Amino acid sequence: MPRTCLVTGAASGIGKATADLLRKQGHEVIGADLADSDIRADLSKSDGRAELVLRARELSGGRLNAVIACAGVADFGPLTVRVNHFGAVATLEGLRPLLAAGADPRALVIGSVDSVHPTDPAIVDAALAGDEEAAVAAVRAAVDRGEGHLTYSSSKAAVSRWVRRRAVTADWAGTGIPLNAVAPGVILTPMTRPLLDDPEMRALVEQSVPMPLHGHAHPEQVAALAGWLTSPENTHVTGQVVFMDGGADAVLRGDRVW
Ligand code: NAD
Repeated sequence: MPRTCLVTGAASGIGKATADLLRKQGHEVIGADLADSDIRADLSKSDGRAELVLRARELSGGRLNAVIACAGVADFGPLTVRVNHFGAVATLEGLRPLLAAGADPRALVIGSVDSVHPTDPAIVDAALAGDEEAAVAAVRAAVDRGEGHLTYSSSKAAVSRWVRRRAVTADWAGTGIPLNAVAPGVILTPMTRPLLDDPEMRALVEQSVPMPLHGHAHPEQVAALAGWLTSPENTHVTGQVVFMDGGADAVLRGDRVW
């Protein structure tokens, strides 16, 4: 049965590979991104988030079967928390009524294995409290302390914890909508290319995200998992952060979590 799926970050990397896979499977895909997509919307801003919901409603006729939030950035500044946490949450919450109107609805956000690295509790707590300006102020304070590297991991930890908290509520589980995150390791996309092209940075990445199984992955490999998690076949996986990281999480956290 063809489904209508909305993918953010659809112009590049994991989002593009996911949109391509879903189209190849015969589904209708509504792509959203800053440019080169059905919906042009800046998810770091409230008017862009409102535009996403408005246009998605128009283009889908008010019903969606899947939402996959892939849009993300990876710098040290406030944009990272605005897009990776607040943009993703606005996407999922804003489109939830359209999912609730669709058959076999499913929702997914792309987190990151970086969420298991050290984070800044001030950023994470503000994000989970839904206070965007406090989260941005905490990012600025971290940058001022020379700890800007905590911004990305904090944004991904926050959105992962948001998924676990929200997935089991009446809005999601109670409405029959599985809500999960995929936490990729290092994926070969335009986001990571500049890092991996620099031998010093590449060595740092390999040390912080060890991937003993098959090494770095391609976006098409993440798309396959995203496709399954948002398919009708997924009836009972919810509130999970599924690590697709070549074993990095098992190396980094061992058997303390499962
Ligand atoms: P990418 O840079 O190839 O794609 C990200 C897309 O998001 C781009 O098309 C970009 O235009 C879009 N985007 C950025 N800011 C936006 C905004 N304000 N509004 C709307 N769209 C915006 O990167 P990718 O590697 O495909 O990353 C996809 C997701 O996967 C991100 O959330 C990223 O954090 C996550 N991730 C990536 C890796 C990796 O190794 N590549 C690992 C773990 C998690």
